[in-house]
Amino acid sequence: MGNCCGLRGNFPEILVRSIAESTYGRAKIFEKCSQDVARFYEINPLFRLLGYNMMITGRPKSDEIYAASLERLPGGVNSPVRAFKGFDMTPMIVQKGKGDTIWDVDGNAYIDYCLSWGALILGHAHPAIVTSACEQMQRGSSFGIATPYELFLADKINTYLPSMEKLRFVSSGSEATMSAIRLARGCTGRNTLIKFSGHYHGHSDCLLIQAGSGVTHLPKATSKGIPNSVIQDTVCLPFNDLSTCRSYIRSHPDIAAVILEPVAGNMGVVPAEQEFVCMLREETTACGALLIFDEVITGFRVGLRGAQERYQIKPDLTCLGKVIGGGYPVAAFGGRKEIMDLIAPLGAVYQGGTLSGNPVAMCAGLETLSHVEQEGFYEDLEKKTRLITDPIEHYLERNNVPALLTRIGSMFTLFFGVTEVRGKEDLSQMNEVKFKAFFQYLFERGIYAPPSAYEAWFVSSAHTEENLLYTLDTILTFLKKKDTEIT
Ligand code: PMP
Repeated sequence: MGNCCGLRGNFPEILVRSIAESTYGRAKIFEKCSQDVARFYEINPLFRLLGYNMMITGRPKSDEIYAASLERLPGGVNSPVRAFKGFDMTPMIVQKGKGDTIWDVDGNAYIDYCLSWGALILGHAHPAIVTSACEQMQRGSSFGIATPYELFLADKINTYLPSMEKLRFVSSGSEATMSAIRLARGCTGRNTLIKFSGHYHGHSDCLLIQAGSGVTHLPKATSKGIPNSVIQDTVCLPFNDLSTCRSYIRSHPDIAAVILEPVAGNMGVVPAEQEFVCMLREETTACGALLIFDEVITGFRVGLRGAQERYQIKPDLTCLGKVIGGGYPVAAFGGRKEIMDLIAPLGAVYQGGTLSGNPVAMCAGLETLSHVEQEGFYEDLEKKTRLITDPIEHYLERNNVPALLTRIGSMFTLFFGVTEVRGKEDLSQMNEVKFKAFFQYLFERGIYAPPSAYEAWFVSSAHTEENLLYTLDTILTFLKKKDTEIT
């Protein structure tokens, strides 16, 4: 196994080896192992059957690359959460992905539940997406000129999200929310924006805030470098707190927009309550503010028609990202025609981008949507997800474990230390130490969970039943351990 994978379990290694060798042949095993340790994964089911797990015991190349990256990239990464801060371990340095599996540069295999933060609903390197992106690359990768694919993808999105009568493509979720907010302010001629604690809408200045005092609701910036003048028009309210939010809106009707993740995914999965969203729709309509659904995660993830169909609410503007790009940099914002027509070149709200509507990304997005629109796609995805989540929920319930599993469709979170979550405030008791142990336990056993207690897990159509059941088994084993036994 070289120095990066080992076997640990109750059976003598020699027995496992001899069974594996008689099944696969010694040469084949050694060939597999020496060529690429990751390929050993293919014969792994045999070991699992015998009670053995793939153990990741060393990642020398990853360590080396990370050390060098620290000299060149701040924190060694290009987005903070990738740094595994607080986990006392070197971050993942990934080499490749296929289906539900990713391989690090040391050749270790991991079943992936991060999936590029939810983007890869069909899994890694789906052959049809690879083909469609490659074909477009042959025709040219970027023009900065309109192509037919922007129209095709916009049409497809409109078919399933009819509230997006017109839309504009951008390259990241941050751009989509930032532009939607500018548009809402331009459209209403007002400045105030309401957001909710625990909701993340990207890294634009006016959104990087946390709730201030409950009395004033004046926000605090969560990053240095943001002038007070930029955030003074953003108000952060408690999610799902119907009476506080309603009375705030009624007493401050001069609002440009309310933005929310209808199913929050950035504090773990926390769905909005139906009455809460209905109240927001009614109150924003009454005071002439726009309701913006940030469906960057939920769009084409919680169902073909997004969270807006689940809640039967028509937002004025919607932001999309992740799934619509099939793993390529695409996001979009859109809504009613008369609002969208206020954007340049038709209107006076400026927005633009060199790579907006990039044709390679548009083709990847179109291909992705052509798969998810197949009958039964979301039902199958949910079934796969429930292979993991149902037994865990039952286990937690039956054993009075102080933990909670929340799930909508194929996204879920296992919270440690809390048993009810309606908003960020309920997470003050979250057991982050336990999460750290959980993350490491899974990682060592070839399961890659999103590296934060405040994130959603995602399942793709490429996840195999065998890998889902292995994951379930590993999670249950972790849950059954006493805290003192966790290593
Ligand atoms: N909105 C939501 C709901 C998100 O989850 C994210 C990112 N995870 C963003 C916006 C920002 O997207 P991006 O990282 O593509 O800028």
